[in-house]
Amino acid sequence: MKSLSLSIDSKSSAYSIDFFREFSEVFPLLETQINNRNHLFITDENIFEKTDFFENISAEKIIILPAGEQYKNWESITKILDGCFDHQLDRSSVLVAVGGGVIGDMTGFASSIFMRGIPVIQIPTTLLSMVDSSVGGKTGIDTKYGKNLIGAFHQPEKVFCCQQFLESLEFIEIQNGLCEMIKHGILGSEKHFNHLEQFAEKNLEEFLAEKNSENMRSDVFSLVLESVTIKKNIVEQDEKERGVRGFLNLGHTYGHAIELLSEFTIPHGIGVAKGIWMSVLESEKRDMLEDDSIKKRITNIFSQLNISLHHSFHHNEIEKAMIHDKKKKNGVIRLILIKKIGEVEYGEL
Ligand code: NAD
Repeated sequence: MKSLSLSIDSKSSAYSIDFFREFSEVFPLLETQINNRNHLFITDENIFEKTDFFENISAEKIIILPAGEQYKNWESITKILDGCFDHQLDRSSVLVAVGGGVIGDMTGFASSIFMRGIPVIQIPTTLLSMVDSSVGGKTGIDTKYGKNLIGAFHQPEKVFCCQQFLESLEFIEIQNGLCEMIKHGILGSEKHFNHLEQFAEKNLEEFLAEKNSENMRSDVFSLVLESVTIKKNIVEQDEKERGVRGFLNLGHTYGHAIELLSEFTIPHGIGVAKGIWMSVLESEKRDMLEDDSIKKRITNIFSQLNISLHHSFHHNEIEKAMIHDKKKKNGVIRLILIKKIGEVEYGEL
């Protein structure tokens, strides 16, 4: 596959996101990027075991963390930082995150505080991290008070996005990624939403019948570029989330609360889908939806992807779980409400 480059000109830095088909295409460019700097790869146990990415990388250069949202915490950050000291990294070194959103967010955060900040290269390995978490520089960890409440803005110096990682993903991870892509369509592009509708119509069956076919992977990967472009355009306008970047939180205020209440048995993407649905209902209640087809299209696309929009938590529990949400302004929780596919606006709870 041809390597494409997008340039993110955020205020603090500019970087490109390169797209590849095979790991073998990534390695020469990764080596050039590392450029003899002392470095460490950070990954999790599933990626290490289920992909061939690390086959030719020296074991002593790799820190393997346990997999899962429940490990997105201080303890894991301490392990990464201890590794940096043990391997004598310094301010001229670089960390390489090879992982989904959990590894990417934690490695980004550790790199933002090690010696007051060293560079990070993001190599996203889940669909969700390809289209969302690896781009834009938000990093962080969860605490008992909520998700991602401790963190920093720390842009990567490069993102390498490779289709081959999709091969070993469970279907639930494809669903998780599609949820964030649908979010991008709803908040910013009718055309992207349309393409996702076409994908949902034809590919779920193919996936279930053929178990992750090559066709499905290349179809989904062609949508990755579209989705990343939407995110990139928003981040370029508002790197530190003072305005339009907040729209990317569509479904997240409710979604994070649902994730937290489920003790992370509901994964992030699915939590966001349920959160988007609550935003649809709230928008309908406030008479904001421009026409009747919007609710139907959103229901349809999630149902075609076998994603349930329902949850069993009481409204009071959800509101309580939202108390520490970052999307509060002057003590009031801000929601993203939907006008039509491709257009959203701020509202207050
Ligand atoms: P994840 O990182 O937990 O990965 C999901 C699962 O897939 C894990 O079990 C992991 O081990 C496994 N996995 C990863 N790559 C694999 C591969 N190629 N083959 C086989 N298994 C693989 O979850 P995620 O959905 O990637 O990310 C969710 C996280 O991202 C959340 O913590 C969320 O808050 C964060 N996030 C951050 C941003 C941001 O802007 N920084 C945006 C969206 C989401």
